[in-house]
Amino acid sequence: MNRNCEFCGRELPEAKKTGRPRAFCGDNCRKLVYLLGKIEDRLVLVNPTPEKKKLLRRRLWSAANIMN
Ligand SMILES: [Zn+2]
Repeated sequence: MNRNCEFCGRELPEAKKTGRPRAFCGDNCRKLVYLLGKIEDRLVLVNPTPEKKKLLRRRLWSAANIMN
C-alpha cells in the first residue's frame, strides 16, 4: 500500500528498507509543516496593532496563494 505525504498529499517515494516510514515526500514539506507550526505558535504570542494585523493577513494570504 502506498502512503501519501502528510503535507502535500502526493504519493511518497518508495520507503527505504531501514528506518521509520516517512511522513513527508521531502525536505520542503517537512520544513513547511514545522514552519507553519512555528508561525501559529508565535502569532498567538504577538498582538499586532489593527493596522499591522491587516498587513499580516495580507502577507499570509498571498503566501498561501502562491500555490495557485
Ligand atoms: Zn509532500
